[in-house]
Amino acid sequence: MSKLYLVPTPIGNLEDITLRSIRILQETEMIFAEDTRVTKRLLNKLEIQKPVAPFHSHNEHKTLARAIDTIKSNTSTVLVSDAGTPAISDPGFLLVRECIANDIEIECLPGPAALIPAIVASGFPCDRFVFEGFLPHKKGRQTRLKAIAEEKRTTVLYESPHRLVKCLGQIEEFMGADRKVCVARELTKIYEEYRRGTASEVKAHYEAHPPKGEIVIVIEGVS
Ligand code: SAM
Repeated sequence: MSKLYLVPTPIGNLEDITLRSIRILQETEMIFAEDTRVTKRLLNKLEIQKPVAPFHSHNEHKTLARAIDTIKSNTSTVLVSDAGTPAISDPGFLLVRECIANDIEIECLPGPAALIPAIVASGFPCDRFVFEGFLPHKKGRQTRLKAIAEEKRTTVLYESPHRLVKCLGQIEEFMGADRKVCVARELTKIYEEYRRGTASEVKAHYEAHPPKGEIVIVIEGVS
């Protein structure tokens, strides 16, 4: 019986890998990785030696059939992305769907994903929330922003640091300057930061202090 494990990897702090993730990486026959260099660095730190093959979004469609053949020829194959949980704004979904269609067992281990600490520490309700991932850069962006403006549940976005101020400006424009937001930056890393306030307050802060690193934006739902 063949099985695909989705193994979450740290989003900044190596200590966040679970004991089970380490065991599965030690026991698996091979690892599919978004970027083999990033994964090999992690495996070196964990003192694990395993064959690592590339599986990334640019060739996800093309390599799907080949990946399924490989998974079928093994008992255990692992998919990892560079950081966090595979398939969450990362390659993986198509492979999972194809495995299910081929009766290959799937197991996703629990572990790091940037959205979870961001939403929990935002202080906004997290009993129900909407994860929007990265908003499209151009086409469809305004439609999504308008939908989020009407959303009653807390919304979580991934954003790059150089687009943060622009995105906060659009939150102001579409949702009002007083809409509350929380920017979670560099989670689990040395310069981890949560900045909470209205869209205009948080935007003013990052205009004065251009951000670096990785960013999650949490937006309070409309009341
Ligand atoms: N698969 C990952 C997960 O489970 O969260 C997400 C991968 S996506 C390509 C990368 C984005 O996730 C970053 O641009 C940022 O928005 C968010 N992210 C990843 N690590 C983060 C961190 N340490 N702090 C804040 N955001 C992070």
